[in-house]
Amino acid sequence: MPVLTYLPVLPELFGHCQQVGEDTLVGRHVVIATGACHADLGIAGEELLTTSTQFLDLDALPRRIVFGGGGYIAFEFAHIAARAGAKVQVLHRGSRPLEKFDPDLVAMLVQASRELGIEEHVNRAVTAIERQGDHLLVHAHAGAQEHTVEADLVVHAAGRTPEIDKLDLEAAGVAWEKEGVSVNEYLQSVSNPAVYAAGDAVASGGFPLTPVAGMQGDIVARNLLEGNRHTPNYSGIPSVVSGPALHDAPRGHRKLVFLAAGGPPAYGVQDTRRGGDRPHSGGAPVGSARRGGH
Ligand SMILES: Cc1cc2nc3c(=O)[nH]c(=O)nc-3n(C[C@H](O)[C@H](O)[C@H](O)COP(=O)(O)OP(=O)(O)OC[C@H]3O[C@@H](n4cnc5c(N)ncnc54)[C@H](O)[C@@H]3O)c2cc1C
Repeated sequence: MPVLTYLPVLPELFGHCQQVGEDTLVGRHVVIATGACHADLGIAGEELLTTSTQFLDLDALPRRIVFGGGGYIAFEFAHIAARAGAKVQVLHRGSRPLEKFDPDLVAMLVQASRELGIEEHVNRAVTAIERQGDHLLVHAHAGAQEHTVEADLVVHAAGRTPEIDKLDLEAAGVAWEKEGVSVNEYLQSVSNPAVYAAGDAVASGGFPLTPVAGMQGDIVARNLLEGNRHTPNYSGIPSVVSGPALHDAPRGHRKLVFLAAGGPPAYGVQDTRRGGDRPHSGGAPVGSARRGGH
């Protein structure tokens, strides 16, 4: 069932509908699951940024790459790029990268990144990007000081935002907030009961992660079929930052697992050497929550 709509008007969805025919499809409910897109930064030269999708589509790796932002997209891609031979810098405006993750493990990851040659700068907010000849200049503030870095590619790693701007939600009477469509505990719009939302496009309190989106999609489907009975449970959602092995395992044989368990994240280290994800005896077993003390 491609698109469901009742009287609420969602012009962008109708637009997408036309790709499968000229018909306007009508239904009793609309499910908004449009995901997220890179956030507008409102800086000069923003159009020169490469998005994460464009980064994955690159045919060749530029020599000097700057990541604006210090979240998991920056670190995952920085490691890929550095290992493939690029000179990589990460500029993060906060005082600590990967702010939502375990500080001890983040410190180890930062150290491992430095050893790989990745330059990571905190308290450095990108303020503008400029083309100069065949390369780019990245301007950044560090307090009152201005820094300029030369790069061949500047990647947007400074946050994602619900992709709901073009849906004309006002015309549909669908309330929203910065984090996405405003919903009740059943993932139903607080202002239009014909509308539900799931995934990165919903303001539900869940992290914008694949397992959360999947769970929410399942709950919305069941609430639509059975009536409002099901609510999401965000405890123990696994979240993985792919990166280097952080202790004695051969490089590349372990991946770091962070568990966002409704409080400070807990973690485990998984041994992936023989294809299985077996918990390592030195780390907290995956699934056990370590709370407090961070
Ligand atoms: C680089 C990157 C790495 C990530 N790594 C991880 C990870 O390791 N682990 C993890 O859990 N999560 C990760 N995420 C987050 C994860 O991708 C999202 O949380 C998840 O995809 C959200 O699912 P969704 O269904 O809400 O949205 P999406 O998967 O984004 O799907 C939304 C779909 O809706 C379409 N769409 C948008 N607007 C409209 C419209 N108007 N009409 C019709 N269709 C529309 C979009 O084109 C898209 O196909 C990563 C994200 C990025 C960008």
